[in-house]
Amino acid sequence: MPSVPFKKILIANRGEIAVRVISACKELGIQTVAVYSEADRYSSHVRFADQAICIGPAKSARSYLDIASIISAAEITNVDAIHPGYGFLSENAGFAEVCETSGIKFIGPRPDVIRLMGVKERARAFMREMGVPVLPGSPGVLTSAEEGLELAEKIGYPVILKASAGGGGRGMRVVNNPDELPSNFIQAQNEAGSAFSSADVYLEKYIGAPRHIEFQILADEHGNVEILGERECSVQRRHQKLLEESPSPAVTDKQRAEISVALRKAITHAGYTNAGTVEFLMDEKGNLYFIEVNARVQVEHPVTEFVTGIDIVKSQIRIAQGETLKEILPGPVELRGHSIECRINAENPVTFVPSPGRITGFHVPGGIGVRVDTWAYTDCVIPPFYDSLVAKLITYGSDRTEAIRRMQRALGMFIVEGIHTSIPLQQKILADPDFQAGNFDTNFIKRFTGPK
Ligand code: ADP
Repeated sequence: MPSVPFKKILIANRGEIAVRVISACKELGIQTVAVYSEADRYSSHVRFADQAICIGPAKSARSYLDIASIISAAEITNVDAIHPGYGFLSENAGFAEVCETSGIKFIGPRPDVIRLMGVKERARAFMREMGVPVLPGSPGVLTSAEEGLELAEKIGYPVILKASAGGGGRGMRVVNNPDELPSNFIQAQNEAGSAFSSADVYLEKYIGAPRHIEFQILADEHGNVEILGERECSVQRRHQKLLEESPSPAVTDKQRAEISVALRKAITHAGYTNAGTVEFLMDEKGNLYFIEVNARVQVEHPVTEFVTGIDIVKSQIRIAQGETLKEILPGPVELRGHSIECRINAENPVTFVPSPGRITGFHVPGGIGVRVDTWAYTDCVIPPFYDSLVAKLITYGSDRTEAIRRMQRALGMFIVEGIHTSIPLQQKILADPDFQAGNFDTNFIKRFTGPK
């Protein structure tokens, strides 16, 4: 089937990612429709879109998560497609299905594929079958504490109980010995049940000092798959990423090539389309193990864009239009140089307590190799209802040292007044000799904040 260009896209999101998608649409000559909650009336995504529709009150459940309101907005404005961004409805298979039945293209994988990837232990089983290395663990949902005890005995402690439908770093419990397992199993089930749509949990080997490594995928609707290298996201607080980079200082060329071969097969077999990320943990010996798939664009996609020269969001839209990767990509995928992203969150840099409020002064850095993705501006108000991401500062250098130095100077030129931000913490991370040497894991941040 020949590809049909979209005329108008609705962006079912807010904040910096809504602005990012609007930018991609403008470059592709596509009209845009923003949706916003009453708390976001003065947000830049509302200003920069061609049309904007208020979809409800501040509470996400009644606005950005309200499928009926979003579909009505899409129908009133007569859009061809919806870009879901990340978070909110981006990995909601039901939403993707409603889009389909309403004759609106969902910019993402098919609903059945989102469903497979969204149930983590099913995605694990699938990847294992495809020959992708997976952490030892339960073959499916853990049915009883006895089954957990038996498995943990075989695998060896510590193990981790994880919510099948978990996300955002929540719904995980580390179990250090058999005594702790039964009570943790019940608590994990209860927590999963109240936080997510399902009380299912599964078990896997716990790695004490892992590195978080993830591979970026693009797949068109004609069976072609490209792997755009990896990102390292080991600088995390409370299992949530703070700083990301590409390539990873820990992944070898051989490893990258091997994982790419296995992923290409798995992604093709799953019928996965559009953009996606396959997440791995690296153990102390340097082995990589699959943990989950994120079936959407990631916050940290810009570091991959810098090192590959590929616009991931434009690629998503063009894939959804039916174009082939051959048409979309400028040539063979190559990784060049090094890129780092720092998340600038509205939060206390020591306690991580959110710091919403009015930004009284805002100045973003620029210059060669510096990119800022944000929705904020002087006098805007960071609402307390959503995540605390205010801006992403991304730098590029011909090598890691240059990317770090550039990030240090850019952080020094980033001025945000009126609220607390993660900038001081990011400066400490960048100045740390172990970080600079590429020698860190997901526990790294504890040295700045004390054990949590
Ligand atoms: P989510 O979907 O909530 O982000 P993930 O499965 O991606 O959950 O895990 C998030 C983070 O939690 C990882 O980057 C890592 O820091 C930690 N984690 C998850 N599984 C394990 C494990 N088996 N061993 C050690 N740490 C883990």
